[in-house]
Amino acid sequence: MNKPSRSSNSNNSKKWNQAMERYNLPTGGIEVIIEGRSSSKLDTVNAVTHSKPKKPTLSIPPDNLTKAGSAKPVNPVRKAYTPHIPAQKPKAKPIRYLVSRSLILVGTLALIGNIPVHSKINLQTQDDTIALTAAVEEALNQATIANSDVVELQLPDENETEVFAGHEVETLPTVTKGRWNLYQVESGDTVESIFAALKLKQTLDKLIADQDIAKVLNDIKPSAKFLAQTVDGKLQQLIYTTGKKDSYFITYHNEQYTGQWQSGLLEARRSQIHFTISKPFHTEAKIAGLTSSLSRQITKIFKKDVNFRRLAIGDEVRVIFEDYIYQGERIASDNVLAAEFDHRGTLYQRVRFSASDTTRYLRPDADLELKQVAFNRYPLKSGRISSGFGMRRHPVFGSRRLHSGTDFAAPRGTPIYATGNGKVRFIGRKGGYGKTIELRHMDGITTLYGHMSRYKAGLNPGDKVKRGDIIGYVGSTGTSTGNHVHYEFRIAGKPHNPMKVALPTTGILSPKEMRQFRQQAKKLKNELEALRETAKNNPHRLSSRQNQFGG
Ligand SMILES: [Zn+2]
Repeated sequence: MNKPSRSSNSNNSKKWNQAMERYNLPTGGIEVIIEGRSSSKLDTVNAVTHSKPKKPTLSIPPDNLTKAGSAKPVNPVRKAYTPHIPAQKPKAKPIRYLVSRSLILVGTLALIGNIPVHSKINLQTQDDTIALTAAVEEALNQATIANSDVVELQLPDENETEVFAGHEVETLPTVTKGRWNLYQVESGDTVESIFAALKLKQTLDKLIADQDIAKVLNDIKPSAKFLAQTVDGKLQQLIYTTGKKDSYFITYHNEQYTGQWQSGLLEARRSQIHFTISKPFHTEAKIAGLTSSLSRQITKIFKKDVNFRRLAIGDEVRVIFEDYIYQGERIASDNVLAAEFDHRGTLYQRVRFSASDTTRYLRPDADLELKQVAFNRYPLKSGRISSGFGMRRHPVFGSRRLHSGTDFAAPRGTPIYATGNGKVRFIGRKGGYGKTIELRHMDGITTLYGHMSRYKAGLNPGDKVKRGDIIGYVGSTGTSTGNHVHYEFRIAGKPHNPMKVALPTTGILSPKEMRQFRQQAKKLKNELEALRETAKNNPHRLSSRQNQFGG
């Protein structure tokens, strides 16, 4: 960092530097490069002390912002994130404009607290030199100093900061104003559903009026997050993040929304909380500092292990989660990454793992739970078993024969769901079965759905279906006495009782996902153990919170 080259009074010089540093102004002065070869440094102090005394003011007249012909005013919201003052195109704009514009930028950056200490202005020709010197002097007068002898800035009070940075900055939203809401995108979400959930449905039209924003909102990734800041229900800032380094920042300015990808501004920070139960869970969690969203997550994660209505005094809870930090402040908490519940002497642990668009909380060391039953037992969501599998007197023909499936009675048009993942093997009329669909699954298993009123539109032989997909609708086609679905479960062509057959299991995770899970689980398990140690060493805690930077 360059010090002022001349100082008649070291105390004043120190004050100067303090003042400049307070606003991160360029104590090193402004360097002027002409045609990229000669470099002459205009020391800020020199420039200032040679100038005539002027009334101290730090405000930059608004008219400077629009002076240069057709150039647009500086938009501080956008520029504020630019770490360097951009090189200016020569000649097209008067030097005075360049300098004043740069200083506006400096002021804006200073307000944000992010500024290069040494600023450069690039010029193309030497002809500009004189004009530049004059312009720099004048601009610096405006921006800084009282008189030639006392180098002391008339610094604005904190609440005058907006004036200091010029009128453009007055509307710059700050993180402390307004309330932040977080929305986690789930598969099946639409832009409309997301904005409805954020209570910003009215704002959506305004947002997509901007083409750039519309483009981003048209391509929302599952598991992305929206962080919305509102004041009196009005959107001020919106951050769209996919967890990668870049996030999309939408800001409200001059009655309109603009957006920009920015790198590294939003930080996910690892946080930990532990507490001991002596009051109802949600009360205890709140005292400890968990947001209600996080404490709801905890009850969901442990609902099978822990009876939250009958917690024991002394039960312990430890949670590792993510905070979102923006402009130095925590604006939201989300995503339990790992948690453990010491409930009546048994320790239950869960770690978060996302794979194929699904997020699960799994036991860090259990293989068993990574398998799941591969089939649903019923092809309908509701209905009544009207006839079971086995020998029976046929309702139409009267003779005794094997009823090779299970009948579910339900109103005509009730959706029929594929009971497992597979492919369409047959779709069409099939004798007494009427309109029928047959699916081929894993391990030589086929399922059959008969008497449909119609098939799902667009479904063809060879199509892949997923467990739970609608394939058709209940009817009474074929040999049937009423609306029902006849459901068969065959292994190697042989019908089994669909209500009793041992359903095969399948791995939740692919081998690759399994390896990822192992790694992640191990790491989080260690973090939980470390947190348990911390908790042990803080016996008086009802709550304790630690932050650490983390992925
Ligand atoms: Zn039947």
